[in-house]
Amino acid sequence: PSGPALMDQPLLNKGTSFTKAEQDALGLRGLLPPRIFSMEEQLERSLAQFRGKTSPLEKYIFLVSLQHRNETLFYRLLLDHLEEMMPIIYTPTVGEACLEYSGIFRSPRGLWITIEDKGKIESVLRNWPRRGVRLIVVTDGERILGLGDLGALGMGIPIGKLALYTTCAGVHPYYCLPITIDVGTNSERLRGDPMYIGMNHERTRGDVYNDFMEEFVNAVRKVFPGCLLQFEDFGNANAFHLLEKNRDRICCFNDDIQGTAAVALAGIIASARLTGAPIEKEKLLFLGAGEAGTGIAELFVSALESHGIDREAARRQCWFVDSKGLLVRDRGDKLPDHKKPFAHEGEHLPDLLSAVKHLKPTTLIGVAGVGGAFNQDVVEAMCASNERPVIFALSNPTSSAECTAEEAYKWSRGKAVFASGSPFSPVTYDGQTFEPGQGNNVYIFPGVGLGALACGSTRVTHSMFLAAAEALAEAVQDSDLACGRVYPNLKGIRRVSLDIAIAVAEEAWDLGLAQVPKPEDVETFIQEQMFEPEYRDYFCEE
Ligand code: NAP
Ligand code: MN
Repeated sequence: PSGPALMDQPLLNKGTSFTKAEQDALGLRGLLPPRIFSMEEQLERSLAQFRGKTSPLEKYIFLVSLQHRNETLFYRLLLDHLEEMMPIIYTPTVGEACLEYSGIFRSPRGLWITIEDKGKIESVLRNWPRRGVRLIVVTDGERILGLGDLGALGMGIPIGKLALYTTCAGVHPYYCLPITIDVGTNSERLRGDPMYIGMNHERTRGDVYNDFMEEFVNAVRKVFPGCLLQFEDFGNANAFHLLEKNRDRICCFNDDIQGTAAVALAGIIASARLTGAPIEKEKLLFLGAGEAGTGIAELFVSALESHGIDREAARRQCWFVDSKGLLVRDRGDKLPDHKKPFAHEGEHLPDLLSAVKHLKPTTLIGVAGVGGAFNQDVVEAMCASNERPVIFALSNPTSSAECTAEEAYKWSRGKAVFASGSPFSPVTYDGQTFEPGQGNNVYIFPGVGLGALACGSTRVTHSMFLAAAEALAEAVQDSDLACGRVYPNLKGIRRVSLDIAIAVAEEAWDLGLAQVPKPEDVETFIQEQMFEPEYRDYFCEE
């Protein structure tokens, strides 16, 4: 595009940074204010505007509009202020934005595919104006964060995740496509809202849904061959079978199952450096036996297997409490496949507290989306059997966290090794300041995606997530551990993502899944593919 049309292209637009020479060459003179600003000055202005917004939701709206206007500036701003802005474009504020999506809706982003498009999904995909899509994040909105069924409002999640791919791992935004599948919603609140932007009927289920998703996957393969497909925030009735059906035939993964697994495993490995107990000795107790919980346990089992422990024995180190209490073999309910490997012989106990007292786990992991479930009794029971109990409250957003950082440190008298899915501010207890880590998938999926894309992997394997978890755990510094953080500082996220990408690509080359020949220097090869948010010169002044 040339001239004014270029200003409407968010990836090409420079706003007040177009030089006079560029303005003349492109026919932009007069269309911009007289004064030229450097990118640094633009960043300063944008930051002041961002900070001037009084509510997180207003900040979210500001960032989204910047993304629509000038993507280079948007990504630079995010990268420079990630700790401040990630809670806005991602959990927790993205959750609030999804809830309010109908009300704050201004202009569309991404692709909407509804059940009415059945039979013509391919043509809808072809309507996407950018060619050569390489990365899709897709949701059907059934389980958005811990907020439940948000139907079409779930679109905020694939948009946010893709923004993090670019910010944290330098995946080029041009190739990224957020998709929301709208098969209806079972939320009465949404269906009764006259401003609701989605399909106003019950969720489509069963064969019709399955055939529709099959058509979707096939259409993606046809229109965007080799594309990496990330399943995000599907309800667990569909998430597991969609993954099973597709994992061995296309390049795909489910972030809630596999990404969460890797981030939690990395936290467990790093925690061992604080507790002094090797992971072979860990006994994990999960609250929640869904995508996240059983995904973590499966990967933990693989990690133990790689340490020479027998699979069945490794599984017996993982215990679950779900909505019916402790998961045991003879509980009397029909178990879905993902729970069966972890339904051990044992006494059925009704609740979390009795399970903690009885099993004496070393690590407690909250992934049920039940806010406040780790109460004082539970934390104290963990302390009764552990010098340094590991307590991960991974449910999102903040309101769904099993306990706050402050509660974990206070109730454990500063002994807990704590991490959470949503961010918490530092906590000072008894003169010591803790900066708890965020056990969040953002440490994993951007690097995994970058690695898979860089080497042209045809699959994303379980072993790649294991490699990613190990790379992430290695990135945790002693200085992180010293302030109680079992994850690396977010400031270094690009380096961490690169390390993960290298580990993932190496695995793809080892397994013969990579389509690109292995270069001499893998690190430089991948690094060179990372998008840097910098303006290009359209016209060189001599
Ligand atoms: P899911 O597949 O729907 O599983 C939820 C599990 O929680 C189910 O096993 C359910 O029991 C159990 N549960 C629900 N209410 C319960 C209660 N009152 N007591 C005990 N168990 C209860 O959901 P998911 O994908 O695993 O996600 C769960 C949470 O993890 C969400 O809040 C999500 O935000 C969070 N998460 C965090 C991250 C991160 O990066 N930190 C990543 C992914 C997910 P039944 O099986 O009996 O129904
Ligand atoms: Mn998710």
